[in-house]
Amino acid sequence: MNPYFNLKTRHSEVPRRVYARLDNVESLGGADTVLFSYEAVNADWEGFEGDGLFPLDLGAGVISRRRRGSNADQNDPKFRRILWKHYDRFPFYGVEITAWGQEIRFLLDLGYSWLEMLLEPTDEKDAQIQVYSGLFAKPAAAKFIWPPRRSKHSRALAATFNMSAHPNARPAQIQKVFKGRVGPESLGICDVGQGNANVVLDGNGQPLFYFDLGCGVKGNAPTTPKPLSFCLCGDPPIILSHWDADHWAGAVIDPRALHRTWIAPRQRLSGPHQVALGANILSHGGRLLLVPTPTVPRAPLSISLGSTSVLYLQRATGKDKNGSGLVLTVAQKRLDRAWLLTGDADYAYIHTMPHSSLAGLVVPHHGADMKSATPAPAPPKMKNKPDYCRLAYSFGPGNKNGRTSISHPTTSAVTRHNTVGWDHGNWVKTGNTPGTVLAGGDVRATASNPSPHLNGIIVGWNKPPSPRAICPKCKIPMKLVQT
Ligand SMILES: [Zn+2]
Ligand SMILES: [Zn+2]
Repeated sequence: MNPYFNLKTRHSEVPRRVYARLDNVESLGGADTVLFSYEAVNADWEGFEGDGLFPLDLGAGVISRRRRGSNADQNDPKFRRILWKHYDRFPFYGVEITAWGQEIRFLLDLGYSWLEMLLEPTDEKDAQIQVYSGLFAKPAAAKFIWPPRRSKHSRALAATFNMSAHPNARPAQIQKVFKGRVGPESLGICDVGQGNANVVLDGNGQPLFYFDLGCGVKGNAPTTPKPLSFCLCGDPPIILSHWDADHWAGAVIDPRALHRTWIAPRQRLSGPHQVALGANILSHGGRLLLVPTPTVPRAPLSISLGSTSVLYLQRATGKDKNGSGLVLTVAQKRLDRAWLLTGDADYAYIHTMPHSSLAGLVVPHHGADMKSATPAPAPPKMKNKPDYCRLAYSFGPGNKNGRTSISHPTTSAVTRHNTVGWDHGNWVKTGNTPGTVLAGGDVRATASNPSPHLNGIIVGWNKPPSPRAICPKCKIPMKLVQT
């Protein structure tokens, strides 16, 4: 595995020169402070030189030909070894820039081009730049020697880091993965800290499949519960909502997950770290099925989960990574109830809402402020249906985002769901900040701010299921104890 994914906590160092590609833009409370996250690689790495693996000076054509020569067939064991060798050597970094005023425009204009940045360490308190040498490392403070600029090697870098080695999956291929996976009885929202990992369980409490396998990373790495492992009894496939690390990093902590079948959206914005994760899935003997981006919103792919239930898989219709991921509905036909799993996609981008009344809903983006005018879907009691329902918030205790330290869940997300009828209990009582006390009502959360962990949540179809503390087979703690 690439050392960037290493769990060992260490202090980061600041490389002098990096190539960086925008990964995420997040507004930090209001429009005037914005956090730009980049996936970066040390530009002075020998592998980018003339006799290295990826000679940037020789241009995109040479690199593409070298890659093509080795990736004629992704199932070829030789190809897997080559990928493993290549992608495990990149000296990766994460770079976060907090920007105000004109800087925001400047960085937005540079957009998703490959950039070159010249950095140096700083002792300044409140430094503008945080550099991470690993997904779970402590950051180092840095400042620019020179403002970021477009790299002259953009095309060669794009040829080095892309998902072209992975073919698009056909719908029938995806449906086949779920053959024999029948009878979903409960939905688990795992406590993984500031991230997302949901699991659909059968009547014996065994995983049928996962939706995301994330955890807290970078600044939020301390929110990840230790140890972190997942019950993988029955070889469950993993559906990845989108390529943000807080939705897949659990798999590098528990690498047994890399041996599974992964179903993920093809996202044009996939950066170098994601490409390395894809390579790691293949090199560990796993399978990666990419769902292409449709040119027009399509009806969800319907996947049978036995005679009682259906899984509907759809692409969200937004443009950015959060808004263009995979969204799942699991529906129980006889009871006419559904669970809706959103990843980080706003409701505005969910083309097909469940027809059945919601028994479970996982709030988008950990309860972030989505700046959206689209109302949240209402709980069933608004429609005089049975009133058991659960609204789940997945966030890490004491999570912070950017220098202004905005934390999830936000008042905006809570108000948005409370307004349409989800009973938020204590979170909306006067004087209480949402997420700092136990909610009650319909609402469950994986944590309280600033602490503690509250463990996972288990949701049924029409009544609370029994808690699932441990898997009786593999003995791995599942901690789905909140009903
Ligand atoms: Zn197990
Ligand atoms: Zn997320």
